[in-house]
Amino acid sequence: MPQVSSSPFALLPVRSRIYRFIYYANSFCSKQDIAKNCDISMPTLYQNLAQLMDAGLVRYSGEERSTGGRRAQGLDIIPEARCAVGISVSEHYLRLVLTDLRLRELYYRSVPFHLKDSISGAASNPASSPHSLPDILEEFLHDHHVNRSSLLGVGITIPALITPDHARIHIAPTLNLRDVSLSSLTEGIPYPVYVENDATASGYAEGFVRGGSPNLAYFSLEYGVGGAVLMQGLPYGGDNAQSGEFGHMCLEPGGLPCSCGKSGCMEAYCSPLRIEKTFGVSLEEFFQGVEAHVPDYESLLYDMLRHLALAINNVHMLLDCDVVLGGILAEYLRPYFSMLKNYVLAGDPFRDNADYVKFSALPRHNAPLGAALHFVQEFVNSI
Ligand SMILES: [Zn+2]
Repeated sequence: MPQVSSSPFALLPVRSRIYRFIYYANSFCSKQDIAKNCDISMPTLYQNLAQLMDAGLVRYSGEERSTGGRRAQGLDIIPEARCAVGISVSEHYLRLVLTDLRLRELYYRSVPFHLKDSISGAASNPASSPHSLPDILEEFLHDHHVNRSSLLGVGITIPALITPDHARIHIAPTLNLRDVSLSSLTEGIPYPVYVENDATASGYAEGFVRGGSPNLAYFSLEYGVGGAVLMQGLPYGGDNAQSGEFGHMCLEPGGLPCSCGKSGCMEAYCSPLRIEKTFGVSLEEFFQGVEAHVPDYESLLYDMLRHLALAINNVHMLLDCDVVLGGILAEYLRPYFSMLKNYVLAGDPFRDNADYVKFSALPRHNAPLGAALHFVQEFVNSI
């Protein structure tokens, strides 16, 4: 149970403290628990709970198991009181997710899309992308009968470095875009909109789902390699909202060319693109080849794991926190986890285990969930 009275929550209005205590409690939560941890009297609690229940935000959640005596009634937030949409935009697809206040995935849809046409304002290809992003969003909401008054907002992720005001693409190496406005993409959406880097949003979702330690470095091992940093439970964006760009840390001066124009970057060594460029095969075919002990495939995998371990060593040395691996490549690396940890351990002069390396707790859709999380947390913080 969170200790609300001894946390920053203690300075909040009583109603906010109660709601957040219930929201963040991961176990049975009784009135007595709330009164004790929020340091409020029972009459004050009853009064505020009545307000939260009238507003449709909190409900009774059943009785605690007991061997005798009076059973305590549990309380929970009403997750479906509000919802949020997350949309992950990639070069050829939109991936839409509807979530409730617990960030549970209610609906998911993947739709073909032409990002470059949409962003440049050019007519999209009618054969494969019949609608604009706002049209596709409305269709998604309509098909799932979403009550628009309960929709908090639409979070959008894009594989690009975006400006601190979240209004423009600063640079997107994998899309070959630089200094482009995002307005043509989001114009016409009649709900609050928030745009975030895809890897950053994925890291935020990971931190939310994982709980536990408040510090986290998240590696997003997609075609573009990025990441996110969470410190004391909060996203650390840096001065320009561009922290966590782990993919462009130099691991080999003068090494393999990278999509960013430099060479030797982590992305050049630890991206699925390296596999496709080197062998012209899909990720699945590559890892089948590794299992079949194709020598060239095995040696590339080992080289990839060594460079990934080097990146983990550097980031762990800097931040001293769990390093979590997510993204499409991470899913394929799970069988080679002990080998990766051995490489990490070999490069760590201070530790006798590499338990700080972990795989993502979110099996899929991290980026759109992380984008939706922006509105969920904004709502929870507004109560
Ligand atoms: Zn680079």
